[in-house]
Amino acid sequence: MGIVVQKYGGSSLADADAIKRVARRIVDVKKAGHDVVVAVSAMGDTTDDLYDLANGVSPLPPAREMDMLLTAGERISMALVAMAISDLGYTARSFTGSQAGVITDSVHGKAKIIDITPGRITQAIGEGHIVIVAGFQGVSADTKEITTLGRGGTDTTAVALAAALEADVCEIYTDVDGVFTADPRIVPSARKLGKVSYEEMLELAACGAKILHLRCVEYGRRYGIPIHVRSSFSQLEGTWVVSDPALQGPEEETMEQPIIAGVAHDRSEAKITVVGVPDKVGEAARIFEALADAQINLDMIVQNVSAAATSLTDISFTLPRTDGQTAMTALARIQAEVGYDKLLYDDKIGKVSLIGAGMRSHPGITSKFFAALASAGVNIGMISTSEIRISVVVDENVVDDAVRATHTAFDLDADEVEAVVYGGTGR
Ligand code: ADP
Ligand code: ASP
Ligand code: MG
Repeated sequence: MGIVVQKYGGSSLADADAIKRVARRIVDVKKAGHDVVVAVSAMGDTTDDLYDLANGVSPLPPAREMDMLLTAGERISMALVAMAISDLGYTARSFTGSQAGVITDSVHGKAKIIDITPGRITQAIGEGHIVIVAGFQGVSADTKEITTLGRGGTDTTAVALAAALEADVCEIYTDVDGVFTADPRIVPSARKLGKVSYEEMLELAACGAKILHLRCVEYGRRYGIPIHVRSSFSQLEGTWVVSDPALQGPEEETMEQPIIAGVAHDRSEAKITVVGVPDKVGEAARIFEALADAQINLDMIVQNVSAAATSLTDISFTLPRTDGQTAMTALARIQAEVGYDKLLYDDKIGKVSLIGAGMRSHPGITSKFFAALASAGVNIGMISTSEIRISVVVDENVVDDAVRATHTAFDLDADEVEAVVYGGTGR
């Protein structure tokens, strides 16, 4: 039978018992006659602990060394899972990302996979082994250095492997039963989605729903790999991420898709305001060039109308908090050249987003969203929209209230609580 590619997240591999449980699940697939390739994350909160350790040693650790450190987490779990499998009478071979042929660009901390050369994997499969691959890591084609794919990157390793090995599906095992209409840790009445389109899942992931890594969804869409998100703690059918939920998935369903797929939130961003930018051609280009050169991905950008008296304007944008320091340094360097007044930095913000393909054809969604926020007493700092998304920046402390109020306003609450959180610390 075909190749099954699975991914187990850190919350599913938290301790020795959990690893033995996962090993049993993997062996069951092999027993059913499939070849199995598994991408594993670091155990529990190992990656966060390694970050803390690094920051205890150095305030700004070199990116290369950070990647060397973080990849150790996945190496630990891959070897332990392989050991647990061998205890069950099957043979497993574990491989680092580099050994598995995960080739990336050379950007430490957020490398992109550019190719997979799975020779060692296919050879090991041919020899009858179960293959375990350390997730979240690869090797740069140019520099030959070890890289990491960004937080949550094992999802992407798994889907990229599924594409390279031409698997029919990629199974992502985690600590909840699938993709819900909101994070079940905040909204216990959230509903599980049976199916969701790549398009909506891309927006959910981009807006902070950390159930799936953004680039894994991009990969799935590009190579047409259905992603099945499910719990490693239950046997329940999870959520299918597919191109057309009305037609695809385990069972045919011709029902019209709901207007709203879900509410996502993100507490990992910061806001920078460049105050007093001269309102002249080329100023914005200079500012954003400096940020691009520093490899910073921006999210929302807002430029105020310039004040008539001064011809000065303010430009605000959001970016990952982890890039805050680098961005401030890059902007400080061009202050004289651009002639702006000062920089403001705010990392006490959160972003709440409403996502749904049905927004295209349903007016009144924005006003209902804003009314829900107003009734919860939430003040809106910034707004951005796409065809199928509305996002607002709010104070970090009111994110949970905003998510719950929005979820209820759009009738997303389930009648019976079905959102079980089986493990993980939510960190
Ligand atoms: P893993 O360790 O398996 O990679 P993660 O912690 O990265 O798990 O992702 C799973 C978590 O994602 C869940 O425990 C949940 O708190 C969070 N989450 C955020 N948004 C959603 C959502 N819309 N549906 C399900 N889970 C979500
Ligand atoms: N261990 C990495 C992280 O915590 C990668 C992953 O879990 O997917 O971000
Ligand atoms: Mg994850």
